[in-house]
Amino acid sequence: MAGRGTSEHTTTDDMDERNRIWTTGNINHGFFHENLQQQPLPLQRQQTPGALSLLSAPVRAISENGNGSANGNGIGNGAANGHGQASASESDQGKQLPYQRISPNLIGIQSRFRRSYYHKVVLGALLALVIILLIAIIVLSVSIKKSNPICRSRECIRSAASLIYAMDEQTDPCEDFYKFTCGRWAEEHPRPDSVTSNDWFRERQAHIMRVVREFLRSNISSAEPEAVGKAKTMYGACMDTKQLDQRNLEPLVDYLLRFQLPLLPTSLNLTLGNESKYTAQVANASYNWLESMVAIKQHLSMDLIIGFDVFPDPFNRSINRIALGTPETESAFPFNNDDSHKLLRKIHRKTIFMQNSDEDDSEDDLESEEEEAAKQTTSGMSAYLNYIRKVIEKYLLYVDPYVNQEEATVGISQLVKQGVKVARKIHELKEDAENSTKPSKNPADDIIYISLTQLQNQTDKNIAPKTLPIWMRYMELILKGTRHEKNRQMTTNLTIITSQADILYLQNVVEYLEETPPSHIESYLWLSTIEELVLHTTSSMRLLHSEYMRLAIGTEGSTPRSLYCANGVNSLFGMAVSYVLADEEFTRVKLPRVQRMLSDIRRAFDRLVRSTAWMDAATKRKTMQKSAEMKSFIGFPSWLRNGTALNAYYEGAVVNASMHLENLMGFVHWQMMEKLNEMDKPEPIGWATSPSNVNAFHTFQSNAITVPIAILQYPFYDLGLEALNYGSIGTILGHELTHGFDDSGRRFDRDGNMVEWWSNQTINEYVNRTECFVEQYSRYHLADIDEYIDGELTLGENIADNGGMREAYYAYRLYVKEMGRERSKLPGLEHYTHEQLFFIAFGNLWCETYTPAASRYALSDSHCPGQMRLKGVLSNSEEFARTFRCARGSAMNPHQRKCRIW
Ligand SMILES: [Zn+2]
Repeated sequence: MAGRGTSEHTTTDDMDERNRIWTTGNINHGFFHENLQQQPLPLQRQQTPGALSLLSAPVRAISENGNGSANGNGIGNGAANGHGQASASESDQGKQLPYQRISPNLIGIQSRFRRSYYHKVVLGALLALVIILLIAIIVLSVSIKKSNPICRSRECIRSAASLIYAMDEQTDPCEDFYKFTCGRWAEEHPRPDSVTSNDWFRERQAHIMRVVREFLRSNISSAEPEAVGKAKTMYGACMDTKQLDQRNLEPLVDYLLRFQLPLLPTSLNLTLGNESKYTAQVANASYNWLESMVAIKQHLSMDLIIGFDVFPDPFNRSINRIALGTPETESAFPFNNDDSHKLLRKIHRKTIFMQNSDEDDSEDDLESEEEEAAKQTTSGMSAYLNYIRKVIEKYLLYVDPYVNQEEATVGISQLVKQGVKVARKIHELKEDAENSTKPSKNPADDIIYISLTQLQNQTDKNIAPKTLPIWMRYMELILKGTRHEKNRQMTTNLTIITSQADILYLQNVVEYLEETPPSHIESYLWLSTIEELVLHTTSSMRLLHSEYMRLAIGTEGSTPRSLYCANGVNSLFGMAVSYVLADEEFTRVKLPRVQRMLSDIRRAFDRLVRSTAWMDAATKRKTMQKSAEMKSFIGFPSWLRNGTALNAYYEGAVVNASMHLENLMGFVHWQMMEKLNEMDKPEPIGWATSPSNVNAFHTFQSNAITVPIAILQYPFYDLGLEALNYGSIGTILGHELTHGFDDSGRRFDRDGNMVEWWSNQTINEYVNRTECFVEQYSRYHLADIDEYIDGELTLGENIADNGGMREAYYAYRLYVKEMGRERSKLPGLEHYTHEQLFFIAFGNLWCETYTPAASRYALSDSHCPGQMRLKGVLSNSEEFARTFRCARGSAMNPHQRKCRIW
């Protein structure tokens, strides 16, 4: 639905859009080859005095720079070609540098001895040598200790080892910083066979899920809140596959009946034999597409044909609005929402779309590209057809063991053909509507308020003089069972929120519904429901599905059921599950430190705002005011450890130890009912996600950021040195803060309402600056799939990435100014300054690996792939170029204009 005026923005995005999936080819022969420019070789660079002095920074500090400021970034001017690390050709030696620097001194002293005492007794010479050596060692150790101790905390050693084993120091950081920081990451972090891509976020999420699984496995304790017990019960029911097999497809059939869907869709052209235990139910069944569709929405939260949602009015967040339009929401069943399933859905949708263009003779370039993509997805359509046929066969044998198999085969073909045809048409109508209306520059202009009667008039237009009364009935049905059920005023006076594109879609879809045989629509609803529910029934059904998945997306192996269940329970009972993560020590020790860091970042942001030349004074003031009022939810909610509060939060959720599908369905239904019941009250401002999520969020309509405890851990935090912490979690905090001022966020004021609160002059200047980013990122080419980044789509994230890094960098400088310079070095990485470590930690955030099949689908994400995020930010950063002494014209410090907003 185009109407929704809010969105949550994440660092790596929430799982929904987080499909930054790549082919492995990119890491080794990345797009950087395209951008290579003539550069001095690393060897030449090493020979410049400037570079040498930087290389030997630890020793230099002893002899020349007692105050230890060798890691300052003021070195820039001396050696234009230099950059401050042990560069490619001599990096092996570079690591031993402190010793190398010491030895010339020793030799010098030795030779003086030789000249004076050579003719004396050999013994004396040896003795003297020993003494000298001793003195040298003492002097050396004292002086090293005095200036640059090595950090030997557990955190430092872990960070150092992890960074060293990820880095490829043979690579010139000014040419390819991704390869420099992440070149060996893949070797150390093999992608599990069951996932399509791997990165730090996924790896740590998997780690958290193992902790969660252990917790869910443990016995229910009376010392824990009841809500925790509910989560454990749900986990137990999910794990009880014996029970699932025993119950067979009975729960599935129950829900078909509840949704008033026929047990045998018309298009099967079959009748139940007398042996079937469901004969009676079939005789009583009455099917009505609208009623079934709304029942499915109520229980699965899944949009079929018509999109429905409730959210705060973009202009006034204290009122909630119902939105109607294109179908957007997929099933809220958590178990199907892992990366592989998402990829599968994307491929599935693409396959349907592809088939369409086959029928079309007017193929342009775009379509042939799409076709090419279709070929690459290992004939997804035939894999799907094969899968769904087998599922229906199994289903038919369950409802009628004596079904005529020959007739069934013919019927299944009809059913699937019709279902796919409707799915394809709906997809097409949606695309057409979205493409036919160009989104306005200001999204506020696209929002339309309309009454149900007006909407009815609109959707009847295409079929006049006929009518298809839908909207009043839809509202009555969806409110059934809520406390608004009897409130007729609510429906008759209802003003819904929608857009021109949505209305156009609804008009066309109504026309389509009117002219399509009802049995086709029925096939579509029936198939969609079966596909969604069947995974939560028997082992043999799941086996069919994993085979389909293997063929379609090429992952081998599958997630163990225990992790799959832990994930599912976590996404429904996230707060209860996080009970295990919420420790008091965090609140006491870490929380104040994170808050301090966030306050440094806010101050850095304010300074950057103040120093801009393109914002007028009033707009600057309001911008800083919004940042000051931005709420932050960090770690976990304080009420989480309060049993009464936690129980109240899950009061209406009912679980049963032996009814897995009912548990899921019941939970999603309860959530939907809550949402509808509460829709006349303002949406509370609160946590955007549960604490167990390795991610971070910004919510425009709340002017709030959420940073869960799961991301406030290694390798994002607890890195030993603040330089590393600011480079990692600091840039994430900055990213989320900056979202409040990206191309969407800047439209929302400090209260989360969409109003113009900037001056026109400043807006114009801002838009000019955003165009620079669009152009920059659109130039980025992914060689292996021969595609360009969509600079428009990724604009908001790119603004946040760029601002976030710069804010964290200056926040670290503020920290140093107030707390003093960090003196201790990272073991094995002593040859890097703290500023350099800041950027190395930032680079390390984006290390990733991916499968070839997944790569093609990464580009529809609002985030660029990790490598591009890194490259985009650093090539805009004077701070980076200065710190690594990257010459203008090098790949990481290109000649092109640097894009910058703050
Ligand atoms: Zn983001």
